[in-house]
Amino acid sequence: MRPEDILVPTPSGVCCKRGGFHIDPTRPVERALITHAHSDHARAGHGAVLATRETLDMMRLRYGPNFAGSTQTAIYGETVNLGGAKVTFHPAGHVLGSAQIAVEADGLRIVASGDYKNVADPTCAPFELVPCDVFITEATFALPVFRHGDADGEIAKLLRSVALFPERAHLVGAYSLGKAQRVIALLRKAGYQAPIYLHGAMEKITAYYVERGIALGELRAVRGASKAELAGTIALCPPSALKEIWARRFPDPVTAFASGWMRVRARARQYGVELPLVISDHADWDGLIATIAATGAGEIWVTHGQEDALVHWCTTRGLKARPLDIVGYGDEDETDGAQAEAEA
Ligand SMILES: [Zn+2]
Ligand SMILES: [Zn+2]
Repeated sequence: MRPEDILVPTPSGVCCKRGGFHIDPTRPVERALITHAHSDHARAGHGAVLATRETLDMMRLRYGPNFAGSTQTAIYGETVNLGGAKVTFHPAGHVLGSAQIAVEADGLRIVASGDYKNVADPTCAPFELVPCDVFITEATFALPVFRHGDADGEIAKLLRSVALFPERAHLVGAYSLGKAQRVIALLRKAGYQAPIYLHGAMEKITAYYVERGIALGELRAVRGASKAELAGTIALCPPSALKEIWARRFPDPVTAFASGWMRVRARARQYGVELPLVISDHADWDGLIATIAATGAGEIWVTHGQEDALVHWCTTRGLKARPLDIVGYGDEDETDGAQAEAEA
């Protein structure tokens, strides 16, 4: 029994022939299992979709009620039998509703982890370690230079700046699904109680988080707020909006960007960011290699980013490893521009 007899990597996503499904397919298929609602993983137009309630709800919010022919809700820890393949969703710790998908057949377990992080996040269920034979991992930040550090420390940096410049607005670029709500929750955890302002593109998703019981305190729309009202406030927007005319309504804004890429100075400069905040919803280098080791998997499939470095690390550790050349997964921090335009 080879793992490829259970899941076959194809350019448009991994496919389980016997179960008749693809995981996070990048083109429309008959049956899709979807790890989380980010638009490069969760596309509209599939026949049937199996995903967690939150992922289905957020796809509906983004694409409208007819985003799939039919839907089925996956519950963390519950096994569904699809054509002899046993499928179980487990929390991935990436964003609300995000899941790793374990596929088991003939005594072999493969875990497709989607995007994941192994650090605490007040807005989603924590990453669950699932022992497996083959682990499919993302590689967004798979270079040793990427060490995200402590998100609370980055929030403290933002709050120090707010205290230092009470007359200026603080405009924080944050991806509108997941990152924005995490930044708000971390600000509240740090004791910040003032209203937080939101760009129009993140209102719907943020309201959904609140509806699902994530406490985010008082939120207000930037739309309609006067320049004077915005002085001294914190506002969140999609990263692409930092450089748009939209940002001119803020009084002398301090621009910040919450992203794992902010570890790289050139990226901060590229966005014209004054206050880079290293906050990521992806595992950093240490998180990736610790997770890979902890799964006990003897074989690692790598997708989505810096495949080469991670494949190399695996082989030096005696693990079988291969890159999956799936086209169409991006990094949400860099793809938010199109999304912002679509939702603004
Ligand atoms: Zn993602
Ligand atoms: Zn992704």
